[in-house]
Amino acid sequence: MYYNEKSIFSRMIFSTIADWLFPKECIACQHEGSFLCKKCASEINPSSRNTYKTPYLDRVHVLFSWEDKLVQKIIKKIKFYYAKGLIEDMDSLLKKALEKVEISNAILVPVPLHSRRLKSRGFNQSELLAQKIGQILDLQVQDVLIRIRNTAPQAKLKAADRTQNMQNAFCVKEKFIKVNQKFVIIDDVTSTNSTINECAKCLRKAGFEKIEAICLAKGDIHNRQKKPA
Ligand SMILES: [Zn+2]
Repeated sequence: MYYNEKSIFSRMIFSTIADWLFPKECIACQHEGSFLCKKCASEINPSSRNTYKTPYLDRVHVLFSWEDKLVQKIIKKIKFYYAKGLIEDMDSLLKKALEKVEISNAILVPVPLHSRRLKSRGFNQSELLAQKIGQILDLQVQDVLIRIRNTAPQAKLKAADRTQNMQNAFCVKEKFIKVNQKFVIIDDVTSTNSTINECAKCLRKAGFEKIEAICLAKGDIHNRQKKPA
C-alpha cells in the first residue's frame, strides 16, 4: 500500500494523545462523541443535480451540494486534517447519498497522490473515501493508477491552468492493463474535472471503455465566493 509507515505510526501516537486531550467533537455543533453528530449529518441532503457526463467520463456522480456550507467544511477537514475519523463518522450520510448511485461490477480507483505528497500528508483522502464507499457498495478498491508527476496543487491554480497542470500526471499499473473492467474514479472534490478527466483519459488510453467517477461535491476549495465551474 501507499502509506508511509513512520508517518502512520507518528499519526497514531498523535491521534491517541489528541483523543485523550481533545475528545472528538462535531465539526458543526461541537457536540462531543464524533466528528459529525447524527443530528448535523441528518441536516445534509444528498445533491439533487447529481450526475453529468464529460468527454472522458460516462458519468460523474456528485453526492452533495457545494452550496451547503457544512459540506464545504467537511471537505476541507477531510483534505487537511482528520480524514479517517471524519469519513468513518459520515457512514450513514454516505449510505443515504449512495442510494441514488447505481453502480455494480466495478472497481473503485482512488485518485493517487504523488509519493512525495503522500509522505508529507501521511494519508490519501481519496483512498480512505474509496475504502468507505467500497464498504457501503460492496465493491473492491484497487490502486490502478500511479501518479508519475508531482503536480502543483490544483486548488492554487487558475481554472484555465488546471487541465495543463494535470496532463500526463498518471499512468495505469501494468498488471491491470489486460483486465476488462469498469472503473469508478473516487475523489473528494472536483472543480473543473481536470483531475478526474486526466485519470479517465489515462484509463481510456490503456483500452478501458467504461469509466465513471464519484466525488463528494463540485466546487472550488480555495474560493468560497466563486460558483463551481
Ligand atoms: Zn453536530
